[in-house]
Amino acid sequence: MFLTINDISKDYMNQQTVQTVLSSINVTIKEGEFVSILGPSGCGKSTLLSIVAGLTKPTTGEIRLKDSVIKGPGKDRGMVFQQAALFPWMTVEENVLFAIRDIKDKKDQLEKAHHFLKMVQLSSSLHLHPHELSGGMQQRVSIARALAMNPTVLLMDEPFGALDEQTRMLLQKELEKIWLETKKTVLFVTHSIYESIKLSDRILVMGTRPGEIIADITVDIERPRL
Ligand code: ADP
Ligand code: ADP
Repeated sequence: MFLTINDISKDYMNQQTVQTVLSSINVTIKEGEFVSILGPSGCGKSTLLSIVAGLTKPTTGEIRLKDSVIKGPGKDRGMVFQQAALFPWMTVEENVLFAIRDIKDKKDQLEKAHHFLKMVQLSSSLHLHPHELSGGMQQRVSIARALAMNPTVLLMDEPFGALDEQTRMLLQKELEKIWLETKKTVLFVTHSIYESIKLSDRILVMGTRPGEIIADITVDIERPRL
């Protein structure tokens, strides 16, 4: 299998008591699938994504990506968070270039940056700084940055959660287009059932009973949906 979440559990120590946030999660994800993790606030969605990202160590279990066990963060997993976390002193273009600075051929590097910034409709904003951008534009930069790294899987944690409704709907539409173009495997955390139905092939529903997946739903509607 492409991405395997194998018997993942996570306990946190909170005020001397053990809090079980994830309880023996088992999921296998196919290449090219767009999977939403849907559930109420506090059910463990971000923790699960963070474990797949290699940013949080699970208490038990392992994540396998294309047959290797994940030991920590890596360039094979592109991340997009609720807050874009751009370098404020760098331009849009520089923010993306920085993420792919290990590409030796400078022409190739610049072409990649421009290609993905065009994909997110930012070709005319290359030389602006983050403070000159709207929240939606900042998220577009962080999506371009993640894609430019050519990750095996794209991990998104409520990427549109901080945006106003109109911008959120616009970015959902753009993300759908990008997915149709790239067919990236996507793991997408959201608490919006509408968003998960609009965007994903499959919805993993998490409950509040300590970190369990209570439903695994195939969304069998043809795209485009937006
Ligand atoms: P969700 O993304 O579904 O809102 P989270 O994964 O962020 O849920 O959090 C699940 C639970 O784990 C929450 O009760 C939260 O308070 C707790 N938690 C998350 N991160 C930590 C941490 N680093 N230390 C202790 N408790 C944490
Ligand atoms: P939030 O993520 O801010 O809590 P919701 O989860 O309520 O917001 O809604 C997320 C998105 O789904 C919004 O863009 C909203 O306009 C849209 N939405 C809400 N209700 C419906 C509905 N009945 N049908 C279609 N879309 C809806």
